[in-house]
Amino acid sequence: MKNLVILGAGTGGTIMASRLVGPLRKRGWKITVVDKDDRHYYQPGFLLVPFGIYKAEDLVRRRSSLLPKGVNFVVAEVEEIKPQSKRIKLADGEEISYDLLLIATGTHIRPEETPGVLDGWRKNVFDYYTIDGAQVLADKLKEFREGTLVVHVAEMPIKCNVSPLEFTFLADWYFRKRGVRDNIRLVYVTPISGAFTRPVATRYLGDLQAKKKIEVESFFLTERVDPTAGKVVCYDGREVAFDLLVTVPPNFGAEVIRRSGLGDEMNYVPVDESGFRSEKYADIFVIGDASASDWTKAGSVVHFQSEILDKIILAEIDGRPVELRFDGHANCFIETGFGKAVVIDYNHEIEPLPGKFPLPLVGPMSLLKETRINHWSKLAFEWVYWHWLLRGRSVPFVPALMSMRGKKDVRGKTS
Ligand SMILES: Cc1cc2nc3c(=O)[nH]c(=O)nc-3n(C[C@H](O)[C@H](O)[C@H](O)COP(=O)(O)OP(=O)(O)OC[C@H]3O[C@@H](n4cnc5c(N)ncnc54)[C@H](O)[C@@H]3O)c2cc1C
Repeated sequence: MKNLVILGAGTGGTIMASRLVGPLRKRGWKITVVDKDDRHYYQPGFLLVPFGIYKAEDLVRRRSSLLPKGVNFVVAEVEEIKPQSKRIKLADGEEISYDLLLIATGTHIRPEETPGVLDGWRKNVFDYYTIDGAQVLADKLKEFREGTLVVHVAEMPIKCNVSPLEFTFLADWYFRKRGVRDNIRLVYVTPISGAFTRPVATRYLGDLQAKKKIEVESFFLTERVDPTAGKVVCYDGREVAFDLLVTVPPNFGAEVIRRSGLGDEMNYVPVDESGFRSEKYADIFVIGDASASDWTKAGSVVHFQSEILDKIILAEIDGRPVELRFDGHANCFIETGFGKAVVIDYNHEIEPLPGKFPLPLVGPMSLLKETRINHWSKLAFEWVYWHWLLRGRSVPFVPALMSMRGKKDVRGKTS
């Protein structure tokens, strides 16, 4: 029996196993999924843990209960991929052979990449990109009543590039709710030009930051962090002082990608023009954050990709030609505090624009606008994630490829 091996049972690995298990069974193939543990966390929930909205136990399910029946799930660290012999080697030395390989090993933070960060780690320098970090930060924020809180992005790309921005909005809401906001300076330090990478959204979200008295330090390329002096230092000489630093450290692909000679300098896997096939090996595909493509690293992107990649893999198995390619479509909710959120929908060609989503005129969500419905939709999305997306289902009315439907083209116009 031929074997599709999927490395990683996170968002991408689980969705792809769910979408392919039926069609592959009919073709006489089996699926083997490997992950280093049996705990699948809903990562977007990490953002809400520091503010006491979620606890770690609310966000976790067993991977084995989320993967479809009929899939062989192996809990083990993947040590090496051996493309020449089409085998993967596990940490205990066991080897599994594959006919096709799908890499879904994601990305993770590397705080040690920024000099000084580890000296203050979890003393006055915190993260929320890991569940442990988010929990410890929750305790720290509870006791933080005055001083400067700096939310810092060390470098791009990071997964969910809007999440640090959301963190600043939520921190503003959290401190106001506790009556201490007037004693706290909030500063957002980013390597990019402002709140977002594209002009219309940067203008809208930058105005929101100004309204909420969040200071922005842009084009900040971090040289080092000095936790003793309490400052972040930029290569151009600028320094930003902090009492509490919440940092998003550099994100890197899995070490196994580097060890196997499959990655670039950040351990991401370069892919062909379809966006999914390893440049080096035709029988290796990649989904999600593990890819070196310049698409946004986000769960929404993984979900849209899965609706294209399943067809490409089935065509490969059937020996049929296929010309499908992904266009980088992404959408994100941006929590802005006080029970409201903004939704953006975009790709490289079409920047986030105002309008209604997913249905033109009807919505019910509004694009580039703070609304309560957007916020409730973000909270409801968690249910959709566990019960719909991970089961391999598509979301009605939300196409995988980018569409201008419901959007108002305000590009080039000043507000
Ligand atoms: C704080 C935060 C907020 C976020 N908010 C949003 C949001 O609002 N919207 C959104 O769309 N996205 C959001 N994301 C991003 C989203 O969670 C990821 O983009 C998505 O999960 C990527 O899926 P993936 O399958 O590529 O990787 P993952 O889901 O991270 O899965 C990778 C898997 O590979 C496994 N693995 C890695 N190396 C090995 C190895 N050597 N051996 C065995 N197993 C291995 C890991 O254990 C993991 O299970 C957020 C992320 C964070 C951290």
